[in-house]
Amino acid sequence: MKFTILTLFPEMVMTGLNESIIGRAKEKGIIDIEAVNIRDYTEDKHKKVDDYPYGGGAGMVMQAQPIYDAHKAVTANMQGMVRTVYLTPQGKVFNQDMAAELAQADNLVLLCGHYEGVDERVLEEVVTDYVSIGDFVLTGGELPAMVMVDAISRMVPGVLTNEESGTTESFHNYLLEYPQYSRPEEWHGRKVPDVLLSGHHKNIEDWRLSQSIERTRERRPDLYKKYMNSERK
Ligand code: SAM
Repeated sequence: MKFTILTLFPEMVMTGLNESIIGRAKEKGIIDIEAVNIRDYTEDKHKKVDDYPYGGGAGMVMQAQPIYDAHKAVTANMQGMVRTVYLTPQGKVFNQDMAAELAQADNLVLLCGHYEGVDERVLEEVVTDYVSIGDFVLTGGELPAMVMVDAISRMVPGVLTNEESGTTESFHNYLLEYPQYSRPEEWHGRKVPDVLLSGHHKNIEDWRLSQSIERTRERRPDLYKKYMNSERK
C-alpha cells in the first residue's frame, strides 16, 4: 500500500512517520509513504501557494493550481485503486471501520489543507473522500494525515508483528479492550487479578470478555449499544 501526502510541511509529516512500528514497516517495504511539497508545483514566480478569499473574510486560501498539478504528478503512474482524501473538519469522522475500509486501497493520497482551507474547485476535481479526525479545528491537515496513516497501516498485513494484537484491540466487535497488566505482580499495593496468574486459558478469556463488556458499557455507551445489537455478541 502506498500513502502519498500532499502538504506544505513534508518534513513535519515524515519526521513522525519514520519512527517506531510505522517507520519499521516502511523500511521493510511493507508500506510506502511519501510526502510531497505542494509548493514545488506552484507556477507563481515567488513560490506563493495561497491568496485572499473572494468575498473577503479572514485568512488565506490555498490555491487550486499547485494542488491540482501536484495531484496530477503523483497519481500519473499509480497502479490499482487510488483514493484521494481531503483532511477537513467538515468530513466524515474517522474511525476504525473507516481505517479498515481505506486499507483496501492500493494508493491513498492525503491532501492537507492549511490557513483557511483550500479552493473548493480543486477539491471538486480531485477528492474522493472528505475525512475529519474529530469535531475540533486544527491549524493544518498534517497531524490528521499522520493519524490516518498510522491507523490504516496497522491494518495492512505484516505491519504488526503479532497479527493477533490487531484483532483483539479496542473497537473490534464494538468493544473496548480489557485492562492489561505486566510485572510486577503487586505495585503500590495493587495486585494483578488472580485469574490472569491462573494459567487457565478459558477463564482468562471469559474474564477479559466480561471486563471488555463492562468497560464499554461504562465508558462508551454508544458503542455498547452497537455491541448489544450486533450478531457478533
Ligand atoms: N476554515 C476551515 C473550516 O472552518 O472548515 C478550517 C480550516 S483549518 C484552520 C486548516 C486545515 O486544517 C484544513 O484545511 C484541514 O486540512 C485541516 N484540519 C483542521 N481540523 C481538522 C480536523 N478536525 N480533521 C481533519 N483536518 C483538519
